[in-house]
Amino acid sequence: MPVTNEPDDSSKQLAERVGAVASLCAVVSATQLSTSIYELVLRGNATTLAGTPGNDVMIRLTDSKGRFVRRRYSVRALNEAANEFTLWITVEHEGPGTIWVKGAKKDELVDVIGPRGKIALDPLADWHLFVGDASGLAAFYRMAESIEVPGRAIFIVEIDAADDALSAPFDEGLGVTGIFVDRQGRSMSDPEGLLRGLAAFELPPDLGHAYLFGEFHVMRVLEKALLDRGLRPEQVSHKAFWRSGRSNADHGEPEKSEA
Ligand SMILES: Cc1cc2nc3c(=O)[nH]c(=O)nc-3n(C[C@H](O)[C@H](O)[C@H](O)COP(=O)(O)OP(=O)(O)OC[C@H]3O[C@@H](n4cnc5c(N)ncnc54)[C@H](O)[C@@H]3O)c2cc1C
Repeated sequence: MPVTNEPDDSSKQLAERVGAVASLCAVVSATQLSTSIYELVLRGNATTLAGTPGNDVMIRLTDSKGRFVRRRYSVRALNEAANEFTLWITVEHEGPGTIWVKGAKKDELVDVIGPRGKIALDPLADWHLFVGDASGLAAFYRMAESIEVPGRAIFIVEIDAADDALSAPFDEGLGVTGIFVDRQGRSMSDPEGLLRGLAAFELPPDLGHAYLFGEFHVMRVLEKALLDRGLRPEQVSHKAFWRSGRSNADHGEPEKSEA
């Protein structure tokens, strides 16, 4: 097979359709940060691919049957000077994404489309509430790092292992509250832990915005819970990142059907 330094034609076409860019990036490192989270650093076209806080990239991978699939991961950090960007990838399940990142080798080339995603930080909000599971941490922290001080970030994140409670170096002027909820063996689609975390927190009185990233069923229940707490629909941005019991579709998003 000819070696090429170009992304696949399907990636170039898809990127054009969605207003993004397709690039080949080189793996700089893949490091396990905690029980559930790997940090992947990629080099190449970083500033463009990484977009703005809240954006993600699509990676083209091969599944166990040899089919090409895409998987989406939020950008955790951008290092413009080094032309590198960082992803945090959860690995406590098994799929093309986890298998690939665990075996990723330095200098290996990977086909990446970015920037993707429509949820950005609400510039008018006085406080920002980030709720979800470990798959949302990269986006939550990058978005929170972009809050202008003085501002407030509240994180309510469900984790499976104590060392998944990773921290981030926030600006001193930012008010930060972090609640990590231990899943304690509850099912992946059980919203109980995050609902309890939310119930323990009194929403501040001024203008806020909530961002919900995580499991499909859990996201639905949390959205309703926040609306019941008095937030208006335009104050709640939510996106299902994955769906319990099902692989994400080949384009990288969870199936939306009820069945
Ligand atoms: C816009 C967007 C941004 C995302 N950003 C991130 C990110 O920054 N970091 C990140 O880790 N993920 C992120 N995700 C989620 C990630 O794309 C999915 O978890 C995806 O399913 C991983 O693919 P896979 O090949 O590992 O597993 P799949 O082949 O999709 O799934 C295999 C099995 O694992 C289960 N599974 C999938 N994901 C998880 C999970 N997180 N926890 C427990 N079980 C799971 C599935 O239910 C299925 O049974 C994002 C998704 C979207 C749509």
